Amino acid sequence: MQPVQETSETASSPVAAPRRLAVLGATGSIGTQTLDIVRLFPDRLSVQVLTARRNAARLLQQALEFRPACVVIDDPEGYRQLREALAGTGIEVLQGEEGLCACVQRPDVDVVVAALVGFAGLRPVLAALEAGKLVALANKETLVAGGALVHEALRRYGGTLIPVDSEHSAIFQCLVGEEPASVEALILTASGGPFRTRPLETFDRITPDEALCHPNWSMGAKVTVDSATMMNKGLEVIEAHWLFELPAERIQVLVHPQSIVHSMVTFVDGSTKAQLGVPDMRLPIQYALSYPERWEAPHERIDWVQLGQLDFEAPDPARFPCLPLAYEALRRGGTAPAVLNAANEQAVQLFLQEQIRFTDIARLVEAALEYLSEPEPVPSYEHLQEADRRARHYVLELAGVAAH
Ligand code: NAD
Ligand code: MG
Repeated sequence: MQPVQETSETASSPVAAPRRLAVLGATGSIGTQTLDIVRLFPDRLSVQVLTARRNAARLLQQALEFRPACVVIDDPEGYRQLREALAGTGIEVLQGEEGLCACVQRPDVDVVVAALVGFAGLRPVLAALEAGKLVALANKETLVAGGALVHEALRRYGGTLIPVDSEHSAIFQCLVGEEPASVEALILTASGGPFRTRPLETFDRITPDEALCHPNWSMGAKVTVDSATMMNKGLEVIEAHWLFELPAERIQVLVHPQSIVHSMVTFVDGSTKAQLGVPDMRLPIQYALSYPERWEAPHERIDWVQLGQLDFEAPDPARFPCLPLAYEALRRGGTAPAVLNAANEQAVQLFLQEQIRFTDIARLVEAALEYLSEPEPVPSYEHLQEADRRARHYVLELAGVAAH
C-alpha cells in the first residue's frame, strides 16, 4: 500500500462536507482519542456510528454528546439498557457482530475507524472494505490474522486502508512522494516497554500491574501487555508486511526508549526518512482522518533541547522471545499468523487473570504455533476462524484452564 498522491479530487475545499465516521470500539483508548479529534474539528468530522463491547454507560454518554445515527453494543444486557435509554431519540441500537457488519456498510458512513481489539475486528473490517469504505485501521490483529483476505477485499472492492498505529502511520508519512521500488527497508521503532532493563531472572515474577505500567504510552490492557512482551512489535512487523508489501527480511525492529522517532524508511540510495513527534496517539489518528491534508492542531510539539538525545539499541531476543516468534509466523504464512495472534490473545487474557506467569505467554504461543499452524496459501475467513478457535482452546488446555 502506497499513499495516494493528492489530486484535484482529493484536495481540500473550504466547503467540503464533514467526513462521516463509524467509530468501532468507541469506548476504548483509540476510540475515545478519535472522539477528541472529532471535538477539535466539528466542521470537518461527524459521527454516524459508535460501538462498544460492554460499556453501555460510556457508550450512552458518547451517543448523547455526538448524536450518531446508530450505536452497536455486543453485550445483551447493555443492548437492553441502550434501547431503553435511547428510545425516542431516533438513534438506532444494534447488537453483536451482525450489527457491526451492518453499521459499517451504511451509505451515510465515509470512514470506518477500526479501534476494537483482537480478531473480533476482522469481519467488520472486511465488511467495510466490501462496501468500498475508507478504513482507518488501529486494530492490528485484523491484518495479522487476515492480511491475505484484507488484500483480496481491497483489490476486489476498491476500498482504502490508512494506518493508525503510530509506527505504520510514520512509515506511511515517510512514503508520501516516493516510488515503491525505491524502498529498501522499513525500520519499526519500539520503546522496549517497562522491562527493557529489568533483570531477566525476575521475569517469572512480573505481575499484571507491572506489565500494565507502560513508560511512554497509555493504552488498552491487551496492547499494553503486548508491548511488555514485545509481541506488539512482532504483530506490527506482520502488519507492516501486509500494509507495505515487503518481506520479513526487509522489516527491521529497533529499540528506541524515548518513543519520539515513530519509525523510519531506508531507501535504495542509502537515505533514511523518519517521522518524529511526541508519543500521543491523537497525532496518527488525526493524520488518518485528515489525509492527504494536514490540519492545524494544538498538539504538543517536541522540545528538542529538553529532549537532548535519542537512543537506539538492538532488541534482545532472549528477553523478548515473542518477537522472533512473530517473524517465524510471518515466514511460515498460511494460518500461522492467525494461530500466533489467537494464542497470544488467549495467553494475555490468562496472564491478566493471574492464571499463568508472564513468561508462559511466549511458551504457550510457541507451542500453539508449532502444533497448529497450517500452510494454507489464502485461508478463507471460516478457516481463520477455526484456526483462531483451536489456538485459544489449545492454550487453555496447555495452561490447565477449562475452556468455556
Ligand atoms: P481498548 O481495550 O482500550 O478498547 C477496545 C475497544 O473495542 C473498546 O471500545 C471495546 O468495547 C471494544 N471491543 C473489544 N473487544 C470487542 C469485541 N469482541 N467486539 C466488539 N467490540 C469490542 O483497546 P485500544 O488500546 O484502544 O486498542 C484498540 C486497537 O488499536 C488494538 O488492536 C490495539 O492493538 C491498537 N492500537 C492501540 C494503541 C493505543 O494507544 N491504545 C496504539 C496502537 C494500536
Ligand atoms: Mg504501535
